[in-house]
Formats: sequence, C-alpha cells, structure tokens
Amino acid sequence: MLALTISKTHRNYILWFRSEVIRTINWGGNPNKPVEIVENGELHLFPRKSFAMWQETVKNSSLPWKDCEIEAASEIRSAVISIVLRKADELAKINIELERSNNELDAFAYIASHDLKEPLRGIHNYSSFLMEDYAEVLDENGFSKLQTLLRLTQKMEDLIDSLLHFSRLGRAELSRQRINLNELLQSVIDVININYQESLVDIIIPQILPDVIGDRIQIHELFTNLVTNAIKYNSKANKWVEIGCIDADETAETASFDENSQQKLKMFYVKDNGIGIPEKHYDTIFRIFKRLHGQKDYGGGTGAGLTIAKKIVERHGGKISVESIVGQGTTFLFSLPI
Ligand code: ADP
Repeated sequence: MLALTISKTHRNYILWFRSEVIRTINWGGNPNKPVEIVENGELHLFPRKSFAMWQETVKNSSLPWKDCEIEAASEIRSAVISIVLRKADELAKINIELERSNNELDAFAYIASHDLKEPLRGIHNYSSFLMEDYAEVLDENGFSKLQTLLRLTQKMEDLIDSLLHFSRLGRAELSRQRINLNELLQSVIDVININYQESLVDIIIPQILPDVIGDRIQIHELFTNLVTNAIKYNSKANKWVEIGCIDADETAETASFDENSQQKLKMFYVKDNGIGIPEKHYDTIFRIFKRLHGQKDYGGGTGAGLTIAKKIVERHGGKISVESIVGQGTTFLFSLPI
C-alpha cells in the first residue's frame, strides 16, 4: 500500500493498493531452518551440510514500489494541496463577503426597525386618543375600524420589537462564561411559572446537566423560548416538557467537535407531548415571522422565537433541528459548547 497524507486535521488520505504477486525465490539453503533438535531434545545450530538450492514461494505481498512511483505520488500530493489551498482561499473570501452582508443586513434590520418605531408609536397614540375622546361620536362601524387600527398598530409594534431584538442579537458581542445549566433552568422555569400559572405542566429534567460555555442572557433566552413553545403548543390535559442532554455513547453524533471554534459540543433537547409539527414545516418554523397558526390561537406570538433560538445556537457554534410527530409531540435538538 502507498499512502499519501493530504490533511492530518481533516484526516484526508489517498491510498493505493497493489495486488499480490506470487514469486519464487531461490535461496542458497533453507533460511528458516538453521536450528536442529538433537537426540536429548536440545536445540543446536548446525553448519549447513547441504548447499542444495532451496526454493520459497512468496505469497500475500506485492512488488515493491519503485522510486519513480513514490515520486509521482508526491507530485500528486503537491498538486492536490495547491488546489485545496486555492479552494480554502476562495472560501475565506466568500466567508468575509458573507459576514459583511450579514452585518449589513443586521444593521439594516436594526436601523429600519429602530426608525419605524417612532412614527408607529405616534399612530398608535393618536388612535388611542381617538378611541378615548371620540368613541361616542362614532357609529358602530367607525368604532370597529378604529379598534382594528389599534390592534394592527399593536401587532406591528410587536413585530418591530422582535425584529429589533433579533438584529441586536446578531450585533452584540457574546460574553462567554461557564454556565451552570441546572441553575439557569431553575430561573427559566421560575419566569415561565409566573407567566403560565394557569396551565399545569410537568417539567422533567432527568439528569444533572453539564456546564455550558456561552452568553448567559442568550442561553437563558434560548431555553425560555423553547420551553415556552413546548407549553404553548400543547392542548393535552396532562402536559409535560422534558429537558435533557444526550449521552455521548447513545449516538456517535451527540458529542461533536466544531473545528472552526475548536470547541466541544454537546447535544441538548427540549421535548414535549404537544400538538406536533408537520414535517413539511420543519424549515418554515425557523424563519422570522412564520407561524403555523392564526394570530389568536395558542396564545399568539410574533413568530420570531425560533428564529432567535436558531441564531443563538449558531452564534455559539452549534446547530438546531426538530423532530416531531403530529398529535404526539415535538423534540428540539441543539448543540452547545461544553
Ligand atoms: P411564535 O411562538 O411566536 O409563533 P416561534 O418562532 O417560537 O414563534 O414558533 C414558530 C411556529 O412554530 C409557531 O407558530 C408554532 O406553529 C410552531 N412551534 C414552535 N414550537 C412548537 C412546539 N413545541 N410544538 C408545536 N409547534 C411549535
């Protein structure tokens, strides 16, 4: 076998195999039998008595690689590496460009949402004044239109706030620190309990969770969004939410290594027994302002929660995905640095 290392970090090799060539070698004598056993069982080295030619058939081996073949392989290696380097260079350029346009997009979202807020607030306030001062002079039709106007401005304000929050998330520096997830989750559950007092939910955390490395505020928001959704999108009498991590030996993919950030990632999950998500919407739900339900159903929302969750996971170097069975429940799986 001839083996070429293209990259040690990516473990890329090129291997050439040669087939077996059975050869016959002529020896001056049997090279494997210089020792003979004498009568008392001892081993003795004896000078060769016979110089009769001894023949051996060599199996399971190929012909040796010639110098010129090894040299050619070496040249292939240089050629491949120069292509790889060129590609890496192109990729780096594309990444810089992508980063720039992402930053521009974040800046645009921030400026647009920030500047839109003020006139919108004005419209909202004037509609409220009209409602307070002129409601009795309006007929039923006029009153209902004014109500719709107020509702729509409120909705637009919610959307703009979400967009503003989302764009801030992309711009803010991550303040990475070691986070005790068990404590963080307790605080997430306390906040959720205040908001969802009326619905009884069993929150199960089957094992002690490892510490993660990340931005405390963002990781708090990630779990809050996922657990809130798990409670919101559930119409069962006995609701439950399970939060946990998957042990590395359960599946090989649960603990991975992010080569860009040089960090070890662990897979976590938030699982519920809620209404579920049809498979065709697995991508849709992560897009901003995409909701699968009417505005008033399941407690409403702006449709930014999962987009924000995805952004947080990706900014920490992880990935998020969803698995679901309609009517039975949903599991969000995501990796975070540990
Ligand atoms: P919001 O909750 O504000 O609508 P999200 O971005 O958090 O926005 O969620 C997008 C959509 O994904 C929701 O409208 C809902 O249809 C669906 N969804 C999210 N989480 C769950 C869940 N745990 N179970 C079922 N559907 C969900």
